[in-house]
Amino acid sequence: MKVLRTIVCAAAAMISLAAVAQKPLVVAHRGYWKHGKGIKAETATISSQNSIRSLCKADSIHAWGSEFDIWMSKDGQVFINHDPTVNGVEIQKSLAKDVAGQKLPNGEYISTLDQYLQEFTKHPNIQVVLEVKPHADLIQESLCVMKALAMVKHYELENRVTYITFSPNAMCELLKYAPKGTEVYYLNGEMPPAKLKEIGAAGMDYHHSVFKAHPEWIKECHDLGLKTNAWTVNKKEDLQWCIDNGIDFITTNEPELLQRMLK
Ligand code: MG
Repeated sequence: MKVLRTIVCAAAAMISLAAVAQKPLVVAHRGYWKHGKGIKAETATISSQNSIRSLCKADSIHAWGSEFDIWMSKDGQVFINHDPTVNGVEIQKSLAKDVAGQKLPNGEYISTLDQYLQEFTKHPNIQVVLEVKPHADLIQESLCVMKALAMVKHYELENRVTYITFSPNAMCELLKYAPKGTEVYYLNGEMPPAKLKEIGAAGMDYHHSVFKAHPEWIKECHDLGLKTNAWTVNKKEDLQWCIDNGIDFITTNEPELLQRMLK
């Protein structure tokens, strides 16, 4: 009887551990930038997407990772911004001096990648989720990838970085030049798990609607040793779907809501 009880307890512990292991990790999308209704994003103490403040805020709530987007100016400076333009200035077609003076809605100046990675070094517990944006000029895009790899190495963040991209060109460059073992995820949604495995990706980072259309891809990924990340999941019912279906990472504008749901 005692042996049976021991076996049952061990099995229960294993099931419990498995349940813990299945919890998705929380990635703050463009940092954590949302704030209460009625508060205007007008000072640097308030967060904006892709701001230093949004990274600090993501770390302050203990998100697993903080995601951000990079573009390279035509003279080779890498900036943090989601859209191709900031205040009407198109980053990839402009000189760094014309981009650097642009302010985000919270009053911060737009960050360079150098400044942003330096900030990550002050927040050792949060993972770096770096998205290379698709540039019109593929040579410029490849140079952007090389600069990002060099800068991540310079700040000794290679063990904390995950690269993501929609661009097949940037994907190839990252897989070719990133140190062995670096995780690179594809965002565009059309490649099935076997193809991603073949090219050496760490997994799929797809819009949650893609996983809903192809729920079998989640198990296929896991069977192949690949991970799954869903973006950008903000509604409670969509977050719950991702949790229930074993998504490994969830990228969200609502990191605190997701954290509450995971408790
Ligand atoms: Mg992004």
